[in-house]
Order: sequence, then structure tokens, then C-alpha cells
Amino acid sequence: MSRHKKIVHENEPVKFNKHSHKIQALKGFKDILPEHQKFWNFVAEKVKDTAEDYSFQKIDTPVLESALLFQRTIGEETDIVAKEMYTFTDKSGELITMRPEMTAPVARAYIEHGMISWPQPVKLWYLASLFRHENTQAGRLREHHQFGFEVLGGAEPELDAELVIVAQGLYKSFGLEAEIEINSIGCSTCRREYIKSLKKFLRDKKVCETCEGRLERNPLRVLDCKEKKCQENLVEAPQILDSLCEDCKNHFVKVLEILDDNSIGYNLNPYLVRGLDYYNRTVFEIFTKSQTEDKMALGGGGRYDYLIEQIGGRPTPAVGFAGGLERVIIKIRELGFEIKEEGHGDVFVAQLGDEARKKCMKLFNELRKHGVKTREAFNKKGLTEQLEIANRLKVKYALILGQKEIMDGTIIIRDMESGIQEIIDLEKVVPEIKRRLLGMNGLKVYSEKE
Ligand code: AMP
Repeated sequence: MSRHKKIVHENEPVKFNKHSHKIQALKGFKDILPEHQKFWNFVAEKVKDTAEDYSFQKIDTPVLESALLFQRTIGEETDIVAKEMYTFTDKSGELITMRPEMTAPVARAYIEHGMISWPQPVKLWYLASLFRHENTQAGRLREHHQFGFEVLGGAEPELDAELVIVAQGLYKSFGLEAEIEINSIGCSTCRREYIKSLKKFLRDKKVCETCEGRLERNPLRVLDCKEKKCQENLVEAPQILDSLCEDCKNHFVKVLEILDDNSIGYNLNPYLVRGLDYYNRTVFEIFTKSQTEDKMALGGGGRYDYLIEQIGGRPTPAVGFAGGLERVIIKIRELGFEIKEEGHGDVFVAQLGDEARKKCMKLFNELRKHGVKTREAFNKKGLTEQLEIANRLKVKYALILGQKEIMDGTIIIRDMESGIQEIIDLEKVVPEIKRRLLGMNGLKVYSEKE
């Protein structure tokens, strides 16, 4: 048997027989099963709350974009563009990429929808799936999700600082202690000078094979190379902070002052450059506090004042931050945090017999119309079985309707915690349930819609 995988061509019908392998999710792509949803909902809720607190508006952009968008902005020399993009030619011959990140698509949308004429800065947030053909490992997937915040149309250092503060607060709300690393990589002018002196310094140094290539094309990347050989070299390397021009220096000092004023701890990391070409001035990354020697990057961001112009917009300063959802969830689960299950409902309608089932279906819709979270198991016949489900769903009340109750025009209300049962008129059940739920903690308010 050939050890090579058979390549199935696009229009060739796939033949299945009993010896075919089971079809599984692609490597690096994961299902999010029902039991994991509570973690996703928890993180998504916190992101949404934080975004609203700081007046960010939500944006969604398409999964597919023109490949040019990323080639022009992220940089040809980056791993993402050079090796990791899912790019293909579509049926009309256009080169398409599945988005590997969200900053460029958000910037594209800013230009395309004339957001330059909105009150500036425009503050947008997102939660999106991204695609990178990476070597998979724990916390490194080919489809992953990021939440992110972008502030477009503002050059002030206050905005950079605010994003660091937003990020720090957000991780805190997840229950995670974030460690912030920050640096400034200057503007195109002062960076040019720095690159010259870095190249000079590295000229006679031994660097890893990948960095040999980077030395010419993108020497800043040598700074954040993880290879020991390269890191050892850097101890004596010139530091970018020493090369900042007056404006860039003032900008960075102001950012740090605001962080200090707000008691936000950070580490200055002169080797942090954040890989992608579009960054300038402030760059930062968020790590989990290192209990182990392996720190995990949870998120990162920075200023990207040239990006909008690069893709055809007017020069527009901007700054952003994005974090990985999967990694936050890994951390939350590692630390064993209890995440409260989503409320499964307040009331369960249980029925015995065909007539009762019909009436219960109506009652179910009636309760829902009144905003009561109602659950059912109309496919079940036995009462015990239905009450077991009600129990599992942790509802407050079960409403039980059988033959006798139908004849009497009544229904049983069972308090699921105490087991106490009362009989009330069927036609009074909706207002009675609303009254009880409202009284439960004094806070629960249901809509009054009919
Ligand atoms: P980046 O856009 O590369 O700066 O990534 C921002 C954050 O997204 C990182 O700090 C990670 O938390 C997360 N992330 C990036 N790439 C992956 C990936 N392949 N799998 C899972 N999470 C990722």
C-alpha cells in the first residue's frame, strides 16, 4: 500500500466504502462542545461588558478578504504572511485569504464605510475566528478566536494607555493575573536609525538560520527570536529606547506615566517588537503570571499609525489590542475556576396524557411570551422522568398537568427545592408564576409584554 496520502482533486467525487477512514475535524481545528460552552460564554460576556464600559462598538467583518489586505499590512517577511495564511484562488480568479488577524480587516472597514467622518476616535471591538496554518500544539491552533479592541483616529498617548488598562482589567475580570510587557519601537524615522545600528552590531554575530535571513530583510525580528544563540547576542545589543526621537520618547513617557498613575504594573521589555510590520511606537504583550517557567502569551497590541494609509485611507493614527480566547479558557480551566452554569430556566412544564400535552404546549408558549424562562420535555410521557429532567435543569418550579387537573381546571405548582406542591386555577398560573419569580430575589423583572 502506498504510504502517500491520496490527493483528491477538487471535482472528483469522494468514494466511501466501509474501509474508508472516519472523517474527523482537520488538524488544529476544534469543535466547541456543549460542556465547554459555559467557558466561552463567560469570556465573551466579560469582553462585551468591558467593551461597553469603555464605549467600544461591536464590529464583525467577513472571514474571507482579499489576500492583498494582509500582504500589504502584516508584512511579507512575517511568519503569518510567508508561511501561515490560508490563501486560495476563488472561482473568479481572485486571490483570497481567510483572515489571520483582525486589525487589517477592521482598518479596511473603517476606510470602506467612511468612518473617518464619524466623531473620532472610532472605538470598535470584535470577537472573531482567525486562521493560521501553524505547527499545532497546546494553545496553538489553526483556527483560533480572538477578542480585540481597536481605537482608530486618535494619536494621543492616553489612548495607548487606556488600551493597556482595558486589557489588564479584562484579564482581571477573567480571574487571571496579567503580566504586561511594554516597549516603544519608535516611528519610521527613528526606527530607521536604530535598524542601522542594530545591523552594524549584529554584523559579526552568530545568529540562528532563520535570523540570518531576517538580518537583511527585517532585523527587528531578531530581537524577539526565541533561539538561545540569538538571545545571548542581544545582551549587549543597542536598545531601541535609546534611539527614539524626541516625539516618540515623549509619547512613550506619557503612556508610562498614565500607567503609573493608575497603578498598572508593567515590565519594560526592550526586545519586544511584536513581529508584524504595521506597528509603531507603543507595543505591548500580556502574559500570564509565570508560576511555571513557561509564560504563555495571552494577548498583545500596539499602535499602528501607518496602516490605514497603507491600504488606501487618509493618514489615520490608531492603536489596538487583541487576546486569544482559547488560551484564556485553558488558563481558567487549569486554575479550576468554578464557572456558574447558564441559567437553565425557571419553570418546567410537565404533562401526563395527550390532552395535557396539548394544553402544556400552549402554556409553555404563554409563559415564554411573558418572558418566563420555561423548559419542557414533551417527548417524555412519565412524570418521574420529566421531574428528573426538571431537577437536572435546576428550575425553581415545575408545573404539573394531568387528567384530574384538566377536569378540575387546575394545575399543580411544585417547588423543586422543597418538594411542596400546591394546586391553583389553571387560568391564574401565569400571573402566579410571574409574581413568585419576581418575589424570589426582588430583582428579577420580566417583561410585561402580552
Ligand atoms: P497575535 O495576533 O499573534 O498577536 O496573537 C494575539 C493572541 O492570540 C496571542 O497572545 C494568543 O493568546 C492568541 N493566539 C495567537 N495565535 C494563536 C494560535 N495559533 N492558537 C491559539 N491562540 C493564538
